[in-house]
Amino acid sequence: MDFLIATHNRKKQAEMQRMLGPLGISVKTADDLGIELTEVEENGTTFAENARIKALSGCKESGLPCIADDSGLCVDYLGGAPGIYSARYSGGDDKQNNEKLLKELEGVEKEKRTAYFACSISCCFPDGREITAEGKCFGYIGFEEQGNGGFGYDPLFITDKGCFGQLSAEEKDEISHRGNALRELKEKLQMENL
Ligand code: IMP
Repeated sequence: MDFLIATHNRKKQAEMQRMLGPLGISVKTADDLGIELTEVEENGTTFAENARIKALSGCKESGLPCIADDSGLCVDYLGGAPGIYSARYSGGDDKQNNEKLLKELEGVEKEKRTAYFACSISCCFPDGREITAEGKCFGYIGFEEQGNGGFGYDPLFITDKGCFGQLSAEEKDEISHRGNALRELKEKLQMENL
């Protein structure tokens, strides 16, 4: 059964396909389906609200069950920032976001640099059913970038398994916020009549 994923990110599609394929689900992007989705305004105040906005819109426009996710980094010392604004924290690219984060934490000791990644996933069905799943991963913000794997804040995020920037994709999936949310989504979908 086809499910639409509300992203153009092929890596997210592949990750979701690996996870949900065993349930008989085929994860398609709008491009795969030859449709164009309206770019919705992510004006929610939480990751969960933004994920739901995208999933509802994709479901309505495609007539298929639609999965969307929203994620970001929450730094305790910064009161949870950059949070839902993670992608646009500096107004620039990933590199500039990381530079800004290091600057904001200048002089802050390791014990106070705790942070977590959060991921919310929403799955909306044409018949009105909605499933939500959430995952987190806890760690702290390093003092300099490490590794060249991953994306976004990975080179600055350190867990007890190492820095995200230095983990393989499989190692990261096992402990990451997105991996944890996807595992919860899979469990919940298994209980649905698809
Ligand atoms: P999105 O939900 O995939 O659009 O991610 C929002 C932003 O959060 C990204 O642009 C990154 O800055 C940050 N982010 C989310 N997940 C990760 C991750 O696994 N590693 C590094 N940065 C991430």
